[in-house]
Amino acid sequence: MKNGPFKIYIDRLKNDDTETIHEIVDSDFLQEGEKEPLFIGKVTVTGQAYLANHHLILELKIKATATLPCSICNEIVEIPIEIDDFTQTVEISEIRASIYDFAQDVRDSVLLKLPQFVECHHGHCPQRKDINKYLKKPSEDTYSPFSDLSL
Ligand SMILES: [Zn+2]
Repeated sequence: MKNGPFKIYIDRLKNDDTETIHEIVDSDFLQEGEKEPLFIGKVTVTGQAYLANHHLILELKIKATATLPCSICNEIVEIPIEIDDFTQTVEISEIRASIYDFAQDVRDSVLLKLPQFVECHHGHCPQRKDINKYLKKPSEDTYSPFSDLSL
């Protein structure tokens, strides 16, 4: 029953029905084929699914928690991922067996939302000072930016 919670049965929507989605599942399904990043805890997916003009429309809100290493000191940081406005439109004729599994959509949108830069202690990594010092060093030396031009 892998990914079961994320299946939409098209036949159930054929009478202008809207299906309300409210799923809280383990984050395991996000990990597929991924060593990193690691997700922890539960993933919450809420929203609705309905049919419009031969399309299945999904409108979702997704909440998950990722763990990524701080970009400065490598300490693992928990990062809340929140997606408020995920929309997916699928042609009904492309849906096999009238069952649409949107687990992959959830996975893709969460992975896209992962930050490129992560900093621990809510943006105040204790090692940031050291790095700033290190980065500033060249300009604090006797180095003159014009020395290259003296030729
Ligand atoms: Zn850090």
